[in-house]
Amino acid sequence: MALIEIEHLSHAYPMGEGGQHVALEDVSLAIEAGEFVAVLGSNGSGKSTLAKHLDALLLPTNGTCRIDGMDTKNADQVWRIRQKVGMVFQNPDNQLIAAVVEDDVAFGPENLGVPPREIRQRVDEALAAVGMTKFRTFAPHLLSGGQKQRIAIAGALAMQTECLVFDEATAMLDPEGRAEILSIVKKLHDEQHITMVYITHFMEEAAVADRVIVLDHGKLAMDGTPREVFARADELQELGLDVPLSVELGAKLRNDGIAIPQEIVTEDDLVQALASLVPSHQRNAANDERRAGVQRSMNDKSDAKGGVPVAD
Ligand code: ADP
Repeated sequence: MALIEIEHLSHAYPMGEGGQHVALEDVSLAIEAGEFVAVLGSNGSGKSTLAKHLDALLLPTNGTCRIDGMDTKNADQVWRIRQKVGMVFQNPDNQLIAAVVEDDVAFGPENLGVPPREIRQRVDEALAAVGMTKFRTFAPHLLSGGQKQRIAIAGALAMQTECLVFDEATAMLDPEGRAEILSIVKKLHDEQHITMVYITHFMEEAAVADRVIVLDHGKLAMDGTPREVFARADELQELGLDVPLSVELGAKLRNDGIAIPQEIVTEDDLVQALASLVPSHQRNAANDERRAGVQRSMNDKSDAKGGVPVAD
């Protein structure tokens, strides 16, 4: 049994006067425990609506959504579902409620009636996992956006969540904050095997997932590895999406006759492919030349200053 089982899920928002807006239509999808799935789609394609079904914040108007076998429509199981699936939303300012960081992280387990000593341990572990231990007594409003999102993740970890759903959680962050969050997501996935459902509009972020799902007008349009999905650049463009810069650059270099393999997806892939094109004796020669250049400039400086080498 998959951790997340979505069968023929449709969701229609009521629009008044008996009208409705169909945001998801007949989506079927299974996500296994431990997967890292990125969800892509242009604005309005249904990504947030899908995310909210995973935490029973929305219920299907048709079809089913089961979390670890529990039907989200079963009101008795909503709290168990929310213990299993934690959400991190877009706006870091909307999700922290306490006046002190560690109280915020403790909020969930306190509500579950976890004994105080265990709460202390969970909070300490959760803050350590997101690298925020030294900020534990800070007021959340003093933190950067990326740090606030890290506290939101810690709050979910303190609930011992098995799955984290990120709904464009990096959209309001600067590049540094985005990189921090992505590296924590990767670490928690690799080391704690937490299932990740990661909605993003940054293609570079999706490239590091195990699997990429693309939604279009509420329907599942693509589902595959990043390599498979990003190989369909023309179709993605028709859906209003790009490919990661490394994929685009790799394709351009290939068109220019440079032997870059088709399966380049991440920046690391591209750097390695480019490095492997340079024969090792040339790489060594380039390094020797660079070292000699540094030595020359040191000598020049030492001559100018009367014999003592000066670093910049
Ligand atoms: P995405 O996250 O991909 O931008 P959403 O899931 O937020 O897409 O929205 C999907 C569609 O449902 C959009 O057309 C949006 O306008 C509509 N929608 C979202 N929330 C509501 C709502 N509360 N009431 C009516 N329509 C909504």
